[in-house]
Amino acid sequence: MANNRLRVGILGATGMVGQRFVQMLENHPGFKVTALAASDRSQGKTYAEACTWRLVGYMPAFARKMVVQAPEPPLDCDVIVSSLPSDFARASEEAFARAGYPVISNASSFRMDEDVPLLIPEINSDHLDVIERQKRERGFSTGYIVTNPNCSTIIMALALAPLHAKFGVEAVVATTMQAISGAGYPGVPSLDVVDNVLPYIGGEEVKMETETRKILGKLVRSSFENAPFAVSAQCHRVNVADGHTVAVRVKLSRRAMIEEVREALAAYRSVPQELKLPTAPKYPVLVRDENDRPQPRLDRDAGRGMSVTVGRLFPDNVLDYRFVVLGHNTIRGAAGAAILNAELLQALGLLAAKSPAKKSAAGAKARVR
Ligand code: NAP
Repeated sequence: MANNRLRVGILGATGMVGQRFVQMLENHPGFKVTALAASDRSQGKTYAEACTWRLVGYMPAFARKMVVQAPEPPLDCDVIVSSLPSDFARASEEAFARAGYPVISNASSFRMDEDVPLLIPEINSDHLDVIERQKRERGFSTGYIVTNPNCSTIIMALALAPLHAKFGVEAVVATTMQAISGAGYPGVPSLDVVDNVLPYIGGEEVKMETETRKILGKLVRSSFENAPFAVSAQCHRVNVADGHTVAVRVKLSRRAMIEEVREALAAYRSVPQELKLPTAPKYPVLVRDENDRPQPRLDRDAGRGMSVTVGRLFPDNVLDYRFVVLGHNTIRGAAGAAILNAELLQALGLLAAKSPAKKSAAGAKARVR
């Protein structure tokens, strides 16, 4: 596989999520990074010049001398992963899809579009069927757009999915405590967040309330039917570097013993585990029984950052059950989510190498798949 790795271009490569992409794709068995793109502040510089490395460990050597390019086609790659700011992502990602590149995006721009999968491979791999409609209606040839959800939404949805599958979910009330890295770099000013909790993250509550229902909904004859339950979310920025925590209360459609709820969460396995995708965690949901877990510092790296950890599972006096779920926002909530999406697309035969003979922009349409 290592010799046939697909070539990946990263948009927003210098940012918090972009750096995670670079880190997680070093030595990936199915992908190699061949193009990096960012804003005009960075274009024309080497990655080492343009990017101040903010992650533990060194900037991967393969990336240091790569020249940062504009986030516009053509780029020398087979597939695009994007961590552009959402206001810029729409035009850029659409241009790549139109030029024949599969685009796997972190940005919110296309997430709620009627013809775009909002993918969590454990939950809704069948939603990928909508890609054919997307290509037909948008006039894409071989390109298409697949998105991953908002970071807090992914973390919460992974805990709700096994409950919805087994018991049905009727209502969700969620309160988040979200890490500073979720705002990108430099993000929230230190004088705002030190010794403080900020009870407002622009657009976040609506994303959790709407995206969750699309993710857990059904694709029926190429149209999405939202999951039939309401979600109420309140979102807070807290003084934590990485790791989003969500306190969840849930009403179920049928009565369930707490042991059954615990078992449904802990036993949850799905398509990425069956396919043994390289980035898939062995256990998507870990359940901890100690009184004081999960905690961001201790649990965000569980499953190499790809597992979410549930704790504080108890019956609730208002709804049926309550629990706390925690996950790594730039791994499971962003770069790792997109890479897992790419691995699923590759496993399903929806990604392919372009012919090396045709490298022009005009040829791009014909090259993918
Ligand atoms: P970030 O640290 O601010 O990085 C933004 C990246 O986009 C940088 O590479 C930047 O390049 C580039 N960029 C900014 N403006 C641009 C423009 N006008 N044209 C081209 N490139 C531009 O942000 P982030 O936290 O990585 O987030 C990136 C995206 O992922 C956002 O859509 C965000 O909502 C989403 N997301 C983030 C998280 C998270 O936990 N951080 C989780 C899920 C989703 P320069 O360095 O050259 O300025």
